[in-house]
Amino acid sequence: MNEKIPFTVNAFQDFLNNKKLMGTKCRDCGNLNLPPRIICTECDGKRLEWHEFKGNGTLQTYTFIYTAPTFLKDKVPYAVGIAKLEEGPMITARITDADINESNSIDIGANVKIEYIQESGRNILTLRIK
Ligand SMILES: [Zn+2]
Repeated sequence: MNEKIPFTVNAFQDFLNNKKLMGTKCRDCGNLNLPPRIICTECDGKRLEWHEFKGNGTLQTYTFIYTAPTFLKDKVPYAVGIAKLEEGPMITARITDADINESNSIDIGANVKIEYIQESGRNILTLRIK
């Protein structure tokens, strides 16, 4: 059903707006890329298809942001984490749990689930600690 959709940033965002985390899967070697690529990063293959990620992963590291881009300046300080998805690829996203602040630490290795929040008229990918 998604075969005709090009592997672009716009298509990636359109999927996010429909609460789907989509990357590419190589038909030759099975490698997964997130965000989507037009060439497989493993074998340079060009026979790719869309692949939906479940959105479950483990937190690899995180940091607190004190100097934010303009659209996030009212959120500082906030946490940004890198999670390894159960399918393999890593994603970087804001951690949105309400009880997370500078005075408590977050467990590295914690199970996380991606969530979507509406900002500036589009869905933004975030991480929630399970
Ligand atoms: Zn490949």
